[in-house]
Order: sequence, then structure tokens, then C-alpha cells
Amino acid sequence: MSRHQYDLVQCMKQTGPNVGLVCSQCDGKCPVCDSLVKPTTKVRLCSECSFGHLAKKCILCGNGYDEGVAAYYCLECVRSEKDREGCPRIINVGSSRSDMIFNKRRNEKKA
Ligand SMILES: [Zn+2]
Ligand SMILES: [Zn+2]
Ligand SMILES: [Zn+2]
Repeated sequence: MSRHQYDLVQCMKQTGPNVGLVCSQCDGKCPVCDSLVKPTTKVRLCSECSFGHLAKKCILCGNGYDEGVAAYYCLECVRSEKDREGCPRIINVGSSRSDMIFNKRRNEKKA
């Protein structure tokens, strides 16, 4: 599905009681498949993703927010038990390392 085209890595650690929050831009998006329809089950995060510098950031795009909105898994993902696979936070958003490697390769090809 579309989410994985940029090699986004999800945390997948065991979830705790903490609800996953997203920014207003990502409001209503399923963290697994980006679907906006039939939000069904509230997203839970692992303990590491709900404290510290990660606490006030959208679990999907990494943007900071003033007031987060609870994220929900869509009905399809709940049906296929994707909501039980673990913490869905995207953990490599904002790291420019892969972009840099990509750009470098492109430049090498040109040269
Ligand atoms: Zn989904
Ligand atoms: Zn996590
Ligand atoms: Zn967001």
C-alpha cells in the first residue's frame, strides 16, 4: 500500500495504555493504510513513543501539534488484526539520510 513507498519504518513495539495522537492534518487517517473511512479502533502506542521528545508529535508525519487528535485504525485494518501488530508510529520521518543517499546516487549517474 502507498505508505511503504518511502521505506517508512514503523516502531512495532508492544503497545501500552497510551493513545496515539495525530496532528490536524492527519486527523482521521488510519496509521496502517492511510484510509480515511470507517475509523474503528483507537491507536495505542508503546511506552517509548508516548513520552519525551516524541510525545507532542504526530505519530504519522512527525509534525508537532498543539492539541493532538486521537488516531484510529480503519475497519479493514482491524479486521485483518493490523491493530494488534504493535506500535504504529512512523519512526524514520524527518531523517534526511536516505534522501541524501538517493540524491548522491542520482548525481553520480548524471556525472
Ligand atoms: Zn487501515
Ligand atoms: Zn513505539
Ligand atoms: Zn500529522
